[in-house]
Amino acid sequence: MASVDVTVRGGGIFGLSIAWACVRRGVKVRLIETARIGGGCSGGLVGALAPHAPEAWSPLKQFQFESLIMAEGWWATVAQAGGVDPGYLRSGRLQPLADEAAVALAQERIPAAAELWQGLAEWRVVPATGAKWEPASPSGWLIHDTLTARLSPRQSAAALEAALRASGAEIVLGEAPEEGAVVHATGLAGLQALSAAFGRKLGAGVKGQALKLRFDARDMPQVFAAGVFAVPHADGTVAVGSTAENVWTVDGPDGQLDDVLARAVAMLPVLAGAEVQERWAGVRPRAKSRGPVLGAWPGRPGHFVANGGFKIGFGVAPKVAEVMADLVLEGRDVVPDAMRVEALLA
Ligand SMILES: Cc1cc2nc3c(=O)[nH]c(=O)nc-3n(C[C@H](O)[C@H](O)[C@H](O)COP(=O)(O)OP(=O)(O)OC[C@H]3O[C@@H](n4cnc5c(N)ncnc54)[C@H](O)[C@@H]3O)c2cc1C
Repeated sequence: MASVDVTVRGGGIFGLSIAWACVRRGVKVRLIETARIGGGCSGGLVGALAPHAPEAWSPLKQFQFESLIMAEGWWATVAQAGGVDPGYLRSGRLQPLADEAAVALAQERIPAAAELWQGLAEWRVVPATGAKWEPASPSGWLIHDTLTARLSPRQSAAALEAALRASGAEIVLGEAPEEGAVVHATGLAGLQALSAAFGRKLGAGVKGQALKLRFDARDMPQVFAAGVFAVPHADGTVAVGSTAENVWTVDGPDGQLDDVLARAVAMLPVLAGAEVQERWAGVRPRAKSRGPVLGAWPGRPGHFVANGGFKIGFGVAPKVAEVMADLVLEGRDVVPDAMRVEALLA
């Protein structure tokens, strides 16, 4: 009998989360990371756990919703097992509304959110108050949703690593034999491997850049306007992001971040002059479907895929982890059809 039941390849947020869900179900796990735990795309700064708008509901939106709702309890067990705080807070989010039409549309979504979010979170349209931590709103109105949360990407990887170690999982940096079922949660490299295996391009990398400001707004809601996030963290910093680049010549952060920062300050003038502590860039694994890719690796018995986190990897990680553990350990396949590898191949 194998001494290891499940081998997970990849120490990013998907691999760590899946390994944790498996360990909690009492099996022996080996996690293999060829570079560094949390050193890939998951090693960034932002950590927004933000829902899609409550409209045009889809299996992906339902999946993400369920993940956001389970996140608080899920991350609490991680923190408890390993003693490292992932920095989770259900902070909510403020978004300014540009004009009367935007206000009317936002109001139409109130009953939709009440139904789709099952009374577990609210989508409110509230008057601007002029508070310092509030985006300027041309209409005088804001959306305030109570579903959005945040965690620290790096702390969450550290928290999962600590929980795994404390629970007896084997973590290998470098290479080791695969034993038992094998889950490939290898981010961009995994998308490239899948593309090579099936002889067609199933996804690509999308570069993203973000920065971190020293500004203490730790209990305040996130702010989002015109594609820019400001995400307060527990350590007295605010993450600001992100760019999305399909083509790039510089691998690290570049001058585009200056524009992101200028837009963030226009959105929240209180951030003007805050010290920039770090600039960061990573490459997101974006599948052709733009959503997560989960399930069995077709034609390769005993091998499974968890990829395609793209812009929402942290938000969907708890649900990805449990669904993959259901499949790999119990043979219970509840992966939405649109997220299967087969859907990418269709
Ligand atoms: C600027 C930016 C901002 C973002 N903001 C957010 C956000 O606010 N909220 C959110 O939810 N998501 C966000 N994301 C997306 C999120 O970071 C990704 O969806 C997520 O990190 C993907 O995780 P992963 O585990 O699939 O990949 P990765 O983190 O890249 O992990 C893959 C790991 O596999 C390892 N590996 C590769 N090949 C092998 C092999 N053969 N064997 C073993 N290991 C291997 C790599 O070294 C790597 O550590 C953002 C991304 C960027 C770039």
